[in-house]
Amino acid sequence: MRAMILEKLRDPLEWTELADRHPGRGEIRVKVLACGVCRTDLHVVDGELPNPQLPIIPGHEIVGRIDLVGEGVDGLAVGQRVGIPWLGHTCGVCPYCTGHRENLCDRPLFTGYTRDGGFATAAVADARFAFPLGEEGSDVALAPLLCAGLIGWRSLVIAGEGRNIGLYGFGAAAHIITQVARWQGRSVFAFTRPGDTTTQLFARGLGATWAGASDEMPPEALDTAIIFATAGALVPLALKAVRKGGRVVCAGIHMSDMPSFPYGLLWEERQLVSVANLTRQDGLDFLGMAPRIGIVTRTTSYPLTQANQALADLRAGRFEGAAVLQP
Ligand SMILES: [Zn+2]
Ligand SMILES: [Zn+2]
Repeated sequence: MRAMILEKLRDPLEWTELADRHPGRGEIRVKVLACGVCRTDLHVVDGELPNPQLPIIPGHEIVGRIDLVGEGVDGLAVGQRVGIPWLGHTCGVCPYCTGHRENLCDRPLFTGYTRDGGFATAAVADARFAFPLGEEGSDVALAPLLCAGLIGWRSLVIAGEGRNIGLYGFGAAAHIITQVARWQGRSVFAFTRPGDTTTQLFARGLGATWAGASDEMPPEALDTAIIFATAGALVPLALKAVRKGGRVVCAGIHMSDMPSFPYGLLWEERQLVSVANLTRQDGLDFLGMAPRIGIVTRTTSYPLTQANQALADLRAGRFEGAAVLQP
């Protein structure tokens, strides 16, 4: 197999030939068909997440076809198309696992961060954390659903049922979640970097009621807001934009420091919460619903060997929607 490997933090990924891997007990091996590029991959490469496992193959939005099945795997077979997400393994016995909050497991493994991911021609995964994808939809179109879609979905659920929903940072996750929220009959208010009229236009094209700069106040108070961008400075802005009793959800795994802000922004029972990882139930709920919603992902494809270019373009905001690598 071949892979784009991160040997040293902040270095470019290296195209490397590796010995073929074989699935252990409870594992599957897939031939990678497509793998999305997520902002979390940038955080891994940049060393912004604690205790990185090096060397590592990044990539946790894997669409693959099973070509080997290890011992003791139930319900998956060679030839099946599956999705492999960020949550790669949980212990099953800690209080979080047994309390239906496996996203907070004490001893988890994360695909592309603490176990090898999908910037490769093949990947081995814990079979219990692979989602059957069926044959509907192209490999590239489905890849962004595996993280941008899933984490976006979990964030949307945690944001609650308010009608007016604000999305701060309009990248891969927001472009999917806008379609879900519209399908649910909600109004979406999209916030982008000041001056980014291209992305604002993109948001309106997907059904956003309003799109503007993140330092603007929306025309109506928000019931709830999700911050997908990594700038901590957005937190007080979002709190200011939500009504009394409203909620602000931080969806990212990493954020720059939040500036201090007057308590008045949080007062009146506004809530500020974060979302971490996903549970398998999130995956089943969201992937089961996605075909009914008719989500159309905007993707930019790159050959796997151009993973560094894809990461650089993501960092610079050079495309709308999501980048996807293809071996
Ligand atoms: Zn656990
Ligand atoms: Zn991700």
